[in-house]
Formats: sequence, C-alpha cells, structure tokens
Amino acid sequence: MNILKEHTRSICPECYEEISACVYEEDGRVFMNKNCPYHGKFTFLIEKDAWVYKKLMNKEPRPQKRCFENIMISVTHRCNLNCPICYMPNKDTPDMQLEEIKKVISNFSGEVIRLSGGEPTEREDLRELIRFTRQNNKLPALITNGLKLADRDYVKQLKLAGLKGVHLSINSFDDGAYKGINARRLLKVKLKALNNLRKEKIDVTLGFMLAKGVNEKQLRKIYRLYLKNIRYVYFLTIRTEVFVGRSRPNHEQIYLSELIALLAGIIGVSKEDIVEHSLEYSHYFGQEHAPCHINISLIPLLLRRLELKETGNPLSKKLMILMKLIPAIGIRNTFNIFIRKYTKKPELSIRINIRVWHDKYRIDLDEITRCPSSHYVSETDDIVPLCYGYTMNTHKLFL
Ligand SMILES: [Zn+2]
Repeated sequence: MNILKEHTRSICPECYEEISACVYEEDGRVFMNKNCPYHGKFTFLIEKDAWVYKKLMNKEPRPQKRCFENIMISVTHRCNLNCPICYMPNKDTPDMQLEEIKKVISNFSGEVIRLSGGEPTEREDLRELIRFTRQNNKLPALITNGLKLADRDYVKQLKLAGLKGVHLSINSFDDGAYKGINARRLLKVKLKALNNLRKEKIDVTLGFMLAKGVNEKQLRKIYRLYLKNIRYVYFLTIRTEVFVGRSRPNHEQIYLSELIALLAGIIGVSKEDIVEHSLEYSHYFGQEHAPCHINISLIPLLLRRLELKETGNPLSKKLMILMKLIPAIGIRNTFNIFIRKYTKKPELSIRINIRVWHDKYRIDLDEITRCPSSHYVSETDDIVPLCYGYTMNTHKLFL
C-alpha cells in the first residue's frame, strides 16, 4: 500500500457532511478511505489505473479561492423529456425568479453563462435571459436536449436575442439505446436541431453521456458525426453516468482511465498519448489542468508521433501531415478540417473534452478547487464547483 494523499477532504456518502479522507494506491489501483463520526469508515475504489491518477489527479489544491470561468445556472427544473437517467434529482422544484437569475448573471465575474435545466427552453422568458446576458457583456450558452430547436423559427428567435452557443445533447444513433437513456426515440429531432443550428450559424458543442451497458457502442458513431460536422461543430464533450440526480442506483461506474482507453481505441492512438497530450496542451485552452476532465486537441494528438523536421520543405511537411490524417479520419474529414482551419476556427479548437464528475463516493474537495466550471446554488446563493453542486442537489432529494 502506497499513500498518495495523506490528508484531503471528501464528504460522507450518507450524511454529505465534509469529512477528512486519505488516498492510497494498491495493486495499481487507487482507493479513498474516509471516516464519518456518525456513519463510520468507508473505502471506495476511485481510479482503476494508478498511472492515470498520478498523472492527472494527484495534485496540490489551489492555494487561493478560484475565479470560475463559466457558471451553470439551472433556470428551470421542468423538462419536456422524462429520462430515466438525469443529473437533476427531480422536476418539481419551482423555477428561479427572473430577477434572481439576472442578479446572478450581473454579479458573475467570468465570461460564460450556461443556461441549463432541466430543459431551459421550457422557460417562456428564455430570450429575455439571453438578451440580458449579452447586455452584460457575457456569452450566453444553452445546455439543451434540442427538442424545441427542431423548429427553425424558434432557433431564429434565440439567435436574434443574442444566443452564441448551444450545447446539444446527443446520446445515441440507435433509437433502442436512446430509449435506455432518454426514454424516447430522438435521433431525427436531434439531427434536425443540429441542422437548424448550422443554418443559423450558432456555435454548437455536442454532448454525449456514456452509460455503461447502454450506449458505449454509440461513442464511435458520435465521434464520426462530430468529424462529419467539424466545419460547424465547435467541440465534442463526453461525460459518464455518475451517482448524481436520477442515475441508476447500482450502475457500474466508468473510471476516467477507462473512458480514455475507450476513446483512444476509437481515435486510433494509445491511452498514454492522450494523457501526455492533454497535459502538454492544457494551457492552450486558457485553463489549468482540471481534476475530472481533460481536453484533447484532436489534430496535434493525431500528429503527435509525426516527426517533422524544422528545416524540411513546407510542401513535404504538408504531405506528411496529410498522409497521417487521411488514414486516421478519412479524406473528406481531413478536407473539412483544412477548410475550418483556413476559415474562421482555429485548428486547436477541434477538441474533445472528456469528464467523469466526482460524486458522493469519490469526491475530493481539495482536487475540485481546480475546476473551472461552476454551478449556482439558489438556496444558499453560493457558486460551487459543478460536480459538488450536483452532488448536493442529489442529497436534497432525500431530505
Ligand atoms: Zn456521515
């Protein structure tokens, strides 16, 4: 047994009180031990691959209080879907008042305001919120299931109000797997929404939620959809089902190392390539490396092992790049990437973001001080790291 962190902070999975914890390595895996004065001792496996943990997570906490770059505001708990898996614990909590949301937006010092839910398009005054965000010189982004965006007129109205970006969830290509996650067949409507956003030139991020035993096989197809739409889609975000909200009570967890390995197989690189690359490039995204998620800049990753001599002829360099990219992603997608590079979007923005949120079992409160994403908690008027906000929301369900 090798102690990795003698003292850190976590929460009790029973009472959610903050308690002290210790992290250790055993047989190449990483465990967290914690002790609640009321509920006793707990030991949880928090990462199956100690190498990944030591590379990405075994860091010092931030010494000073962090300024978050973006904030997620759950503007409503209502939703036009009834998914068996959702990060929100229930749909019955009353909506925040318009004035309260405006106050949070104007007081927030970061740049990006993410309007989420539930389903934010359920709010009649959504356009007013988008307009207000722009008037405050901030960027409004919508986190949505996209059902309402299948109506082009509605997308036009949102754009007119000042909407800059949409994070569109798309969890499957196979309607059978869709039913396991969203309880409905949704592929057609999602693709229509994507098409409307492309026509209205709104930046799109695709969001995929991976649930073990339900939609792992869909990830390859979503990756291909991303490449196919790379001229319009800003980046792809992949997260896994964790124990927050209405997650399946006994679902099998996916660890960050497993998600990295799965994606490495799809992209055609090694897991070491992804880990080392994400550390090399983290500063390009204007944020320090975060504990639960990593950014992969696709083109530098694919070209990582290509040795281009500085003195080489520029044309032969380009040819070598093409010879590497075409087998990895296909001729058409390579062409699209070059178009994107030479039009308006920089090459580095072709990226995949993967994340495994901390939940009540594995949360490391020292580690999440380095997270750039935050969540607004209306009951306490606090801004907290995203995963902590959702974990505490889940707790409230059982109070
Ligand atoms: Zn406890």
